[in-house]
Amino acid sequence: MARQVIVQVLCDVCESNEGATALEFAIGRSAFEIDLCGEHRAAFNAALSPFVSRGRSARSRAATMSPSSGPSQRRDPSETEAIRHWAKENGFAISTRGRIPGTIQEAYNARVSK
Ligand SMILES: [Zn+2]
Repeated sequence: MARQVIVQVLCDVCESNEGATALEFAIGRSAFEIDLCGEHRAAFNAALSPFVSRGRSARSRAATMSPSSGPSQRRDPSETEAIRHWAKENGFAISTRGRIPGTIQEAYNARVSK
């Protein structure tokens, strides 16, 4: 049976899919990723602009530290698909959208490295 799985990125704030893309940011030592629609991305940028415009550009510690298995790590979309597919085949409860839970990511990593 042929299957086509379509992943839709929805804004984490309003669940709109209009122009929603992932945005990574770091505050202090913590790195985050959030999916934002155009409107909320603009709101995010507007809220931060007074600080960003005065800040010095720097590589954050979070970005330079060795990547943990956390969701902040940038992942290739095709890999996300592969993980989702693998998780389903292996009986994990996983939604068709949103981030891959850390436990599933770890299980997938452990499986692939074997
Ligand atoms: Zn939104």
